[in-house]
Amino acid sequence: MDKQPVRIVTDSMIGMKLPDFARHSPRVATVLGHNPGPFTGPGTNTYIVGSGRRPMLLDTGQGVPIWADLLVAAMKELAHASELDRIVVTHAHPDHDGGVAHARERFGDIPVLKMPWPGHDKVSADSITALAAGAVIEAEDVTLRAIHTPGHAPDHLCYYLAEERALFTGDVVLGAGTTVIPDDTGDLGQYMDSLRRLLELDLATIYPAHGPVIRNPKEKIREYIAHRELRDRQILGALAAGPLEVTAIVKQIYTDVPEYLHPAAARSVRSHLKKLGIEGRVSEHEQRWSLN
Ligand SMILES: [Zn+2]
Repeated sequence: MDKQPVRIVTDSMIGMKLPDFARHSPRVATVLGHNPGPFTGPGTNTYIVGSGRRPMLLDTGQGVPIWADLLVAAMKELAHASELDRIVVTHAHPDHDGGVAHARERFGDIPVLKMPWPGHDKVSADSITALAAGAVIEAEDVTLRAIHTPGHAPDHLCYYLAEERALFTGDVVLGAGTTVIPDDTGDLGQYMDSLRRLLELDLATIYPAHGPVIRNPKEKIREYIAHRELRDRQILGALAAGPLEVTAIVKQIYTDVPEYLHPAAARSVRSHLKKLGIEGRVSEHEQRWSLN
């Protein structure tokens, strides 16, 4: 058998530091959410989008009070603005919509735009402006187009900033490492389809929700696709020797990952198995998986 790499994506956000806030382009600045962790890296990137007097805020972090103070400071220093036009949210995970109330405390009862996810939205349904796939959001000097990218979460929208050929990818593509596809509410098949559709965009820059700005967007998306394809092959390879439980598959494949991350790796493996099951390539009997 050919020697396969252990992984395609080799960088990680462990120990990474990012500034409290920074300007990336005339229209885009970031404020760090200050919610560091194994899955958030240095914390969620929240973005001030637009160079006019009333920019938009894209994502709100986890709801950490210091973030709201930094947002006010960044608005003044980087955007020379004191008012927010609206809040745009990528998806209803708590490290993205958790700061909506804090932002509204500081900037008033501004509209919150997202694709609804009933039962998961923490912002009440009557105060959400519902976005559908393809929705266009226009402000003074920026145009955002919503691209439905399910897989990490069913309500996930990426936003294409036409003026910069840039994409806000939320948790679909991260600045370093890979994203988690939850095995319950996620869907790896949909995620792969989302990545392939993003590859068709005219892209110069990716602004991810975690980690540094990506200046080689196509290469990064291709790497993400190749990474998942390799994981599929590794799982099928492990099962070729006979039925295995998920934890045994993790031990065989994630040899380079610290053990405290194995539960997350197991979630990822379960997402792959679910996809391979839908494709009719594997099946489960009493928690052991085997090739069909
Ligand atoms: Zn998420």
